[in-house]
Amino acid sequence: MAKHRILILGGTSEARQLAARLARRDDLAVTLSLAGRTANPVAQPVPVRVGGFGGASGLAACLEGEGVSLLVDATHPYAARISANAAEAARLAGVPLVALRRPAWQAVPGDRWTVVPDVPSAVAALGDGPRRAFLALGRQELLPFEAAPRHSYLVRSVDPVEPPLSLPDVRYVTGLGPFPADDERALLSAHGIDVIVAKNSGGAATYGKIAAARSLGIEVVLIARPLLPDVPSGASVADVEALIGHALGPAEKRGV
Ligand code: NAP
Repeated sequence: MAKHRILILGGTSEARQLAARLARRDDLAVTLSLAGRTANPVAQPVPVRVGGFGGASGLAACLEGEGVSLLVDATHPYAARISANAAEAARLAGVPLVALRRPAWQAVPGDRWTVVPDVPSAVAALGDGPRRAFLALGRQELLPFEAAPRHSYLVRSVDPVEPPLSLPDVRYVTGLGPFPADDERALLSAHGIDVIVAKNSGGAATYGKIAAARSLGIEVVLIARPLLPDVPSGASVADVEALIGHALGPAEKRGV
């Protein structure tokens, strides 16, 4: 039986979970693609390829060359470039695309959110007086904070920040979620944090800092989500699995 080749653009826990669910089906051959940002990526349940494709045209060439029947965009909500490339490449190669779009967190009573459009605006939102800021951002988003050396920083990243930031008062912690709210509350209190800068990643794994900030009355400067292409999408792994089923057609036509 000829298998349908599915390429999942991943880097998220949902991508890994979706790959595991699809891997159980013997009519599908699933490959997961990672950007290669982390030094020790977690184990994946399907074959993995690592690194960029060379833009939308490179991804389209890969889809055609590998005979991919369906592309899944299950990347991080802030990975806007690869999501745009996925939409363009799917169009160029004539391959159906479905996306997993993790819903954003919504503010609830007690949250003290300041929503800003980008990282430089987050730096400005820290204000003129010295603050004690917890930066829960990717390594590539930290450099703009060097423009505000009056603040004390606690930086958490998956891999160590190399080279370290050029700032007089910065401490580093490394860690891979999930981060429970109780642990986050302890971390914020231990470091005397009075403001958090974060992305609205959605999902439960990194929500602990938001809940902890609410309970401690701490401000959260949230970087707004980028605009992503409007493509068929689901909000959960199960939704996307169902969309994939529809996109590939009824099982009996596929000989399963
Ligand atoms: P991006 O800016 O959308 O992508 C930049 C380039 O990286 C893409 O153009 C592509 O290179 C390559 N790329 C990205 N994801 C890929 C994948 N799954 N497979 C193969 N190549 C991929 O995304 P980003 O640089 O990864 O991250 C941007 C934001 O997302 C940051 O805020 C980051 O903290 C956040 N984030 C991303 C991930 C993730 O796994 N990507 C996870 C957590 C958080 P080519 O154009 O050469 O194909």
